[in-house]
Amino acid sequence: MVQVTLINYTPNPELTIATAARSSTSPSRVTKLRNELTPKQVENLLKRLLESGHLSPFEHASFTFAIEGISRVTSHQLVRHRLASYTQQSQRYVSLKEHGYVTPPTISSRPEFTAKYQQAIEAAHKLYSDMQATGIPMEDARYVLPQAIKTQLVMTMNARELLHACSLRLCLRAQWEIVELFEMIKSEVEKVAPYLGAELKPKCYRLGYCDEKESCGIFPTKAAAKTK
Ligand SMILES: Cc1cc2nc3c(=O)[nH]c(=O)nc-3n(C[C@H](O)[C@H](O)[C@H](O)COP(=O)(O)OP(=O)(O)OC[C@H]3O[C@@H](n4cnc5c(N)ncnc54)[C@H](O)[C@@H]3O)c2cc1C
Repeated sequence: MVQVTLINYTPNPELTIATAARSSTSPSRVTKLRNELTPKQVENLLKRLLESGHLSPFEHASFTFAIEGISRVTSHQLVRHRLASYTQQSQRYVSLKEHGYVTPPTISSRPEFTAKYQQAIEAAHKLYSDMQATGIPMEDARYVLPQAIKTQLVMTMNARELLHACSLRLCLRAQWEIVELFEMIKSEVEKVAPYLGAELKPKCYRLGYCDEKESCGIFPTKAAAKTK
């Protein structure tokens, strides 16, 4: 079971973003601006920043997540987002003999493959353990492990990159496991920054159309929208 826990974040993230934004156009001291901003003004400022694409103030709020139980398939996709910091459990120092693995629903719903899938993974794990028992180091034995194996990591991402990553990874054309992961990330952010959390959306919501080859149905593709 994947688990996402927000373990740290910039205090008052939305106020911090709004203060930074307001400080660029005001002669007042930043601390005075911060103390005077009302929740409504904060929300309006964030709205305007998003509408105008003036996104750099969003970089002042960061969120640190503990992400546990995702597959290596998904952690590999996640770390492609370069504007974030990651610390992932090492397969050189942590033996994975007891580790779980992820089974995609398309496989778990097919009884003719579930047992074979499980056997293949267990066979890989057995070889991993047998090789280690003969002195082959963990860092080399791990080459036999499947991509399905579970991993855990700590990720720190600022709000600007969260907006960007969510625009790509909440898209239903992305793979199911990373979509689920970003849905959990979004719900953790919503607990401490409700306005920002609600703005973590697939890209089509901002574009007003789907820019993928095929639409999931929420918005028509650009071509289909034009012909309407
Ligand atoms: C549905 C889907 C399918 C994918 N399929 C594949 C695939 O088949 N093969 C594959 O290799 N990848 C694939 N990817 C990964 C994708 O190509 C990106 O690597 C990943 O989504 C990270 O996003 P990003 O590059 O926009 O930005 P991030 O790394 O999240 O960076 C954010 C933004 O910062 C800017 N930026 C960051 N680094 C640089 C830089 N060095 N130079 C200039 N600007 C920079 C860019 O504007 C970028 O959009 C897929 C992603 C998705 C969502």
